[in-house]
Amino acid sequence: MTDSKKLASRYGLSFRRESCLAARSSPRACSRCAEACPARALSVSERGVDLAHGCLGCGCCVAACPSGALSAQGYRIPDRLLEGNHALTVECWKVPPPLLAEGAHAVPCLGGLTAADLLELVLAAGEGRSLVLMDRGGCASCRAGGQAQPPVATQLEFVRHALTQLGWPQQGLPALRCVPLPSPILPVEIPTPAEREAMGRRAFFRFLAGKAAEAATLEPPPCGSVRHGARHGEQPFPERIRLLAALEKLAALRSIPLPDGLFPAVSVSGNCQNHGVCAGVCPTGALTGYKETEGAGVRFEPWLCVGCGLCARSCPEGALDLSPVDGLGPSARIRLTRFPWRECPSCQTRFPSRDEGICPGCKRSRSLFDDLFGGKNHP
Ligand code: SF4
Ligand code: SF4
Repeated sequence: MTDSKKLASRYGLSFRRESCLAARSSPRACSRCAEACPARALSVSERGVDLAHGCLGCGCCVAACPSGALSAQGYRIPDRLLEGNHALTVECWKVPPPLLAEGAHAVPCLGGLTAADLLELVLAAGEGRSLVLMDRGGCASCRAGGQAQPPVATQLEFVRHALTQLGWPQQGLPALRCVPLPSPILPVEIPTPAEREAMGRRAFFRFLAGKAAEAATLEPPPCGSVRHGARHGEQPFPERIRLLAALEKLAALRSIPLPDGLFPAVSVSGNCQNHGVCAGVCPTGALTGYKETEGAGVRFEPWLCVGCGLCARSCPEGALDLSPVDGLGPSARIRLTRFPWRECPSCQTRFPSRDEGICPGCKRSRSLFDDLFGGKNHP
């Protein structure tokens, strides 16, 4: 059963608690949405995410969320866009429909496109067509943009890096292109879904009357699942699944395995004492405990790791490190540790341990006994 709620925003922002890493674990695990919000309208707590006034509707929080806990309206790309052999162009809702580039589709803000969205668009386009994200000169002055980098830059950088690793031709990499419109044409704020609809009609009739055509001749200013179907299925991390699926399809197209290093990786040193704290705190399940006939330990799945570092910070032995591990493809599932089974000479229970000796339960009892009675005559 899912626990979703609409956040109080005119822009149709939804939150799915069971996917939120802060709500599953602790705000120490993740607060990327709050950090990405240009209006500082989001706050993160153990309950999940709350939205104050001031949401701009940019979807930057959605793009930053590593687990798909947030979603926004307006990002579904229609099938007609995926047909043909022209460049796939995506623009933002501020651009009046008649002024969109030929065949382009508009989403509320380019900053709301996730890495999975971009990869799925690249997949849909294939190697013969390029994916162009069009900045019509509004990003620099927009409250959602206006930063050192346009809001889509982080996702675009990851996607370009992943595609380069996959041997994608450089000229076919998705790119941000600036083709400015005269600034008075663009509204100051991102339209809400209802405003966008109205704006489309008004702008269309204005366009027919020749006013938009006239405005378009002004001197432009200088400028610095494709969500098919539901974005949220029943699994807790739909966004990770979309991302991995898109990467796997792209790798299959090139007939190569998924390269290492696309996701963070955890390594473990010999200091590990198999407490299992890391698996207990990991909010995504990238680290999980396992038991087999030969031994037990902790297993790691890179594609689920979001690099929050909570495991490394929580390990009492300081045994974990977040660093790339050679030969560890994103869809691998590896045993990070394996401790053979031992029998405790004191209570005869079986437990996994590197060394001979008593089990952790007996160790705790003995140390409690020592603390209480200060002696070594253990029962
Ligand atoms: S970015 Fe996503 S997972 Fe992280 S706190 Fe925000 S909603 Fe939760
Ligand atoms: S493995 Fe560690 S860094 Fe990766 S998601 Fe889990 S707790 Fe975070």
